[in-house]
Amino acid sequence: MEFSNTKGFIQLDFLLQNKTAEQLYFQYAEAMPVIDYHNHLSPEVIAKNQPFRDINAVWLDGDHYKWRAMRTLGIEEKFITGNASNKEKFDQWAKTVPYTVGNPLFHWTHLELKRYFNISDLLQPSSSDAIFEETNHQLKSLLPNQMLKNMKVEMLCTTDDPIDDLKHHQQIKKNNFGPKVLPGFRPDKIFGINTEHYLDYLNALADSSGVNINSLQTLLDALKSRISYFHENGCRISDHGLEYTYASDYSLKAVDVSLKKRISGEKISEEDALAFNSCVLFELFVMYYENGWTQQLHLGALRGNNQKLNEQLGADVGCDSIGDFAQAKNLSKLLGKLNSSDKLAQTIIYNLNPAMNEVFASMPGNFNSSKVEIQWGTAWWFLDQKDGMETQMKALSNMGLLSRFIGMLTDSRSFMSFPRHEYFRRLLCNMIANDIDQGLLPNDLPFFGKMIQDICYNNLKNFLKLKH
Ligand SMILES: [Zn+2]
Repeated sequence: MEFSNTKGFIQLDFLLQNKTAEQLYFQYAEAMPVIDYHNHLSPEVIAKNQPFRDINAVWLDGDHYKWRAMRTLGIEEKFITGNASNKEKFDQWAKTVPYTVGNPLFHWTHLELKRYFNISDLLQPSSSDAIFEETNHQLKSLLPNQMLKNMKVEMLCTTDDPIDDLKHHQQIKKNNFGPKVLPGFRPDKIFGINTEHYLDYLNALADSSGVNINSLQTLLDALKSRISYFHENGCRISDHGLEYTYASDYSLKAVDVSLKKRISGEKISEEDALAFNSCVLFELFVMYYENGWTQQLHLGALRGNNQKLNEQLGADVGCDSIGDFAQAKNLSKLLGKLNSSDKLAQTIIYNLNPAMNEVFASMPGNFNSSKVEIQWGTAWWFLDQKDGMETQMKALSNMGLLSRFIGMLTDSRSFMSFPRHEYFRRLLCNMIANDIDQGLLPNDLPFFGKMIQDICYNNLKNFLKLKH
């Protein structure tokens, strides 16, 4: 598959279907700074700020979206994650790109080539050599922090395990160049109580906190100590990736007995594990509230479906999918319990199952007040594409207040994902412009321009209570 016309696919009016959309985007949205409040960038790479080894290192080697597409095309694994040369891998990606039409990868690929390298040609086998050479040439002088600055990134939050010493974050702060980078507290491993290496993890947590963990109370003390450490290092946000919210009834005494049993080397029942997880999640959420943090719940992924591939390559290699877990009742129960105790922190919930969009859209309004705000976060992962974003914003408009929305984040491992903020902004401007042109909204560009700037930046800054 080869395009015959390879020039200039991404034009100025990309995704902007009328003049009003162009006015909103160029006059109001384009120049706004970016706060990328949840992503998986490496703090080490930001701290060291060395040039990337090559285009493969920054664009292909860690991108499981691309890997999935290549596997779907039937490409051999040696060209995806195996030991083929960089050029061979790049060529196989170039061969794949024309097949990705209709998938967000097609738009992202060309937007990224355009914004980072000013390359307008379509990537395909006939352009592979030239684009491989040109990107590698430019990368010699394009440092990670400059990449972020070029994308107007003012601040970002990474994703860090509680046992992390945060030394790279400390180095970034000392460097004092590039955007502000804050840690994000993600304690997912604490919920895997029956996993094989759980006791090793508890030992590492004990080492990092200086707390000897032999009971529920000491476990919570250790977590509290790590939260304080993260807070001292600038962290103001936590994140949990769960299939569904843990919200079983439990007694502290029974949870304590379960943990002690596990520490002695025995596994515990599914029911006891659920009670343990429900207890720890609630207690963590109370700690987040007490520290004035924002908490995030990424709900609904069914991970690691291809066991064979996971055994070969590890987790997060492109064999996760959308799950169909029940969400509403447990989420309501946990948020309600925190609300009743006056311990509900600023919260962002993310949905992966499009069948549940309205479920998520209708949840925040139950708990929003002058004291606390619950946000349904932007379309996530498989839904992070044109239809997914538009559908999320439509559902949010219908059941909440789009004008208060905190907008886009990349949730990405790649330094080259930041044009997704532009992608989102263009879609947002286009959606509002279409409603204006159809007479569904007043033709008042300053009003909607301000609202768009709020969604792109100001709402989030207020939501996270970031004072500059
Ligand atoms: Zn994430």
